[in-house]
Amino acid sequence: MGIVKASPEAQLRLLELADLDTELARLDHRRRSLPEIAELEQLSVRAAKARDALVAAETELADLSREQERAERDVDQVRVRIERDQKRLDGGNVSSAKDLESLQSEVVSLKRRQGDLEEIVLELMERMEVATARRDAAAAERDSVGASVDEVTARRDAALAEIAEAAGKASAARSSVTDGVPADVLALYDKIRASAGGVGAAMLRRGRCEGCRESLSMADLNEIRAAAPDEVVRHEECRRILVRTAESGL
Ligand SMILES: [Zn+2]
Repeated sequence: MGIVKASPEAQLRLLELADLDTELARLDHRRRSLPEIAELEQLSVRAAKARDALVAAETELADLSREQERAERDVDQVRVRIERDQKRLDGGNVSSAKDLESLQSEVVSLKRRQGDLEEIVLELMERMEVATARRDAAAAERDSVGASVDEVTARRDAALAEIAEAAGKASAARSSVTDGVPADVLALYDKIRASAGGVGAAMLRRGRCEGCRESLSMADLNEIRAAAPDEVVRHEECRRILVRTAESGL
């Protein structure tokens, strides 16, 4: 690129432009690093865990409930058989001693079986209590996470709206500032901005480049002193456009 020219006024506009671009970059960084973004990520991990725990507890409860129904049915069947055997014993119609003995021994074994089954029902009830507590805790965690998500989302959206408003103002200001800058200077500025850490132009203040904060060599300063006021000069070291003002120390 050869010598690029712009009036001293247009060059001063580059400083305004650099300030606005710094502000826009700051807003963009803030938008991407809002603490609410990390908070929502953590909450989403918690929500997934609560959901899994809830599904596991509900599945276990359904299994236990089926097991319990089956055990209760078994208990009922045994009870009916005991009652039937007992009726036959009490009815006095079983005359053979052998039949009587076998019937009595059946009642004894059925009662033992009934006891075992009732034990199983009790154990299942205890396990259901534990699973119910686990399900309730998971549901409470899910509700609490949901409330937090709503609260953090509202906070994030408010911050985003505030950032968008500030960015809108800065962008509008940027448009009006660029209106006064020649297109080739603007293109050069944007090119440098893209490669020099987001700052395309800086003030030369007391012999120092405000972009990279280095002092210019005597040779560079002499060269800038010799340049016409409408010549766009650059810092040899950092390549940024250097804008001359009354404070430049030339
Ligand atoms: Zn510099």
